[in-house]
Amino acid sequence: MNDPNFYANTYNAYSKNPKKIRVLDSTLREGEQHPGVSFTNKQRIQIAWMLDYFGVDQIEISPVISKDHEKSTKTIIKQGLKADIVSHGRALKEDIDISLRCDASWIAVYLGISDIHLKDKLRISRQEALKRSVDSVEYAKSHGLKIRFTVEDGSRADPKFLLEICKAIEEVGVDRISLPDTVGILRPVGMYNFVKKISNEIDTPLDAHVHNDLGFALANAFAACDAGVDQIHTTVDGIGERTGIPALAEVAVALTYLYKSSNDFRLDMLQDLSRLIEEYTSIKPYDSKPIVGSSAYKHKAGTHLAAVLRNPAAYEPIPPRAVGNRRRIVFGELSGKTGAAYLMSLLGLQKNDEQAKSVAAGLKGLRMGDLIEIPLEDRLEKKIINDK
Ligand code: ZN
Repeated sequence: MNDPNFYANTYNAYSKNPKKIRVLDSTLREGEQHPGVSFTNKQRIQIAWMLDYFGVDQIEISPVISKDHEKSTKTIIKQGLKADIVSHGRALKEDIDISLRCDASWIAVYLGISDIHLKDKLRISRQEALKRSVDSVEYAKSHGLKIRFTVEDGSRADPKFLLEICKAIEEVGVDRISLPDTVGILRPVGMYNFVKKISNEIDTPLDAHVHNDLGFALANAFAACDAGVDQIHTTVDGIGERTGIPALAEVAVALTYLYKSSNDFRLDMLQDLSRLIEEYTSIKPYDSKPIVGSSAYKHKAGTHLAAVLRNPAAYEPIPPRAVGNRRRIVFGELSGKTGAAYLMSLLGLQKNDEQAKSVAAGLKGLRMGDLIEIPLEDRLEKKIINDK
């Protein structure tokens, strides 16, 4: 059969040579800033291994939080993973020294550059902020480190000052610049314009770090890519400060299927990664969460069941197996005749149209909502089709 997404894909207007978009996962840094989350040293190491095996490009962790975090960072760096381990701290010599103690080769430093951060958080002038930015990059480079600089709250900073800082740190050799929408105030076209302002004048590779306060994080991350960013920050299930940042599962699936980026992700690990974080944080992703949620591949309405039993692609953009999830069908008052017939065949009951209709009516008459749900395996799909 032809690709059911064929016409939709014509609207997506893929380029012939899609660029590769990298992923930095910050579950161990941003994720630990989610209320109630605190990983043990062992858990951090396991999460890093899983993320590396999954195929992210960089893994971010902050050694400056505590001695325990410093120990975790050091141990994770020693594992020799494929992903870069990015050691995160403030744009201060003392924080960079902690990263150096961990034998980091990649660091990230941040400095709030909006007027509200300068005046009410840091209590420094723009001149001091500019000097601190340049000094920290020069200090890192003088120790042979690769450095990413985050212009924190950049989307709310004076664009002239933002550009001035980016140019100054580029001049002293910064390796990447992260453009954050720290309070999630931009809409997608706003994120596009924000990134474009910098990418028009700066050659340094750019990251997007976008918060989800108004639910725009995922859309803004991809608007940033359209404007020149080549790395997106994620966490597993999107956990982070307040409402968090884009979820790794959604970003990785969108990159693979919608952006045709040439990543080497093991997408079938996505649900396991989500379960691991759920176990370590006790935060259960909501049922309808894309990709990993328990309802993401459940089919319920009678008309949907009738179609899905013949061809699941009728109501699924991507097969559940590809992302480590499972397809389930829900039987109850909405099942309809085809759903009832399928249920009867599973129970080994003889079925004809009339009986299936009366079972469907019986299910409706019970007024008990959903009664049972069962996995719908490919094997069973074939069975029902052959029974037709
Ligand atoms: Zn953040």
